[in-house]
Amino acid sequence: MKITKVRTIVIYGPRRKAYGRTYASGLGPRTYSEHCIVLIDTDAEITGIGEVASCFARRGRIYEAEIEQLLAPVLIGEDPYRIAHLAARMNAVFEGSEPAKAGLEMALFDIVGKDLGTPVYNLLGGMVRERVGLSYSIPYGGPGEMAAFAAEKARAGFRTVKVKVGQDRKTDIEAVRLIREAVGPDVIVRVDANMRWRTVAEAMQVIQAIQPYDIELVEQPLPPRELDALAELRRRVSIPIMADESVWTPRDALEVVRRGAVDIVNVYLMESGGFLAAARNFGICETAGIPCIIGSMPEMGLATAAQIHLGVAMTNLGLDSDCCGVLYHEEDLLTRPLKIEGGFSYPPVGPGLGVELDMKVVERWKKPPA
Ligand SMILES: [Mg+2]
Repeated sequence: MKITKVRTIVIYGPRRKAYGRTYASGLGPRTYSEHCIVLIDTDAEITGIGEVASCFARRGRIYEAEIEQLLAPVLIGEDPYRIAHLAARMNAVFEGSEPAKAGLEMALFDIVGKDLGTPVYNLLGGMVRERVGLSYSIPYGGPGEMAAFAAEKARAGFRTVKVKVGQDRKTDIEAVRLIREAVGPDVIVRVDANMRWRTVAEAMQVIQAIQPYDIELVEQPLPPRELDALAELRRRVSIPIMADESVWTPRDALEVVRRGAVDIVNVYLMESGGFLAAARNFGICETAGIPCIIGSMPEMGLATAAQIHLGVAMTNLGLDSDCCGVLYHEEDLLTRPLKIEGGFSYPPVGPGLGVELDMKVVERWKKPPA
């Protein structure tokens, strides 16, 4: 089999509002997600589909240009089964742009799964669990509305809520206090600062104040490259520290392990560069005794399906994950919705990624919302 063509479509999917306003976290407000869909055609009449997702502005168009000009030429004429070889070739063309490489690699896995008639998780070692436990993120707002929102998500079945912190100290502490009160003792509460605190001292002010509220972990409290500071913070507080923005590729995972910087790592299919690299991140952490979760950009249904395939196949998936990006959007782009129920995501049934694009939605999303 040979790859004949790589096609791209930039889409603008409207984000769901929270509290009647635009969703916002430490990364800023977002009215829509700008992602890039990729379709890889073959001479066997199998087309693989992939999604390049990013929570950062304008990335859909940037990744599309990199795919068209730099990465697609690497794939044309090649055998789609040689995924590791093609991933290495893409890395040799230029460093970085992991999400673009992940979207293309996702489509290659889809092709191989479809050709073999087997789901992608079977290409990753097979199922070690049947579903992936979920966390729901509580965006920036007033402490009262954040608590009501968290209670609503707990009632909907989410076992874990992730409180976005880094607004200001008083608001963060009050939000966490009210959320714990609202969800009761049985729901897991974690916090995510999205790199907002600049120093160990600044992070400690909030972390020590929220300690009484039974907090599972603190996600990315400090800027991504501040690994010595992260390690120091980790020694000085009792709540476990999770890396998110600090870890993209396997090289980053190895570095946080070496520096003793974190207790848990949030692995992204997009940031790592694809299934193979994400699985390496999982492997490095597992060998070091560090559990992982899967993070979200947040993806549409296509890349969410890919995350779920990864999640059911990784032995080292420890805590609840963010494999439900579709829930942060007003609608999805799949012909059949993913099964996301009672706080769990389930892998789609069928060969490859097991999902198909609803081209009517894709067409509608080709223009950014006014
Ligand atoms: Mg995060």
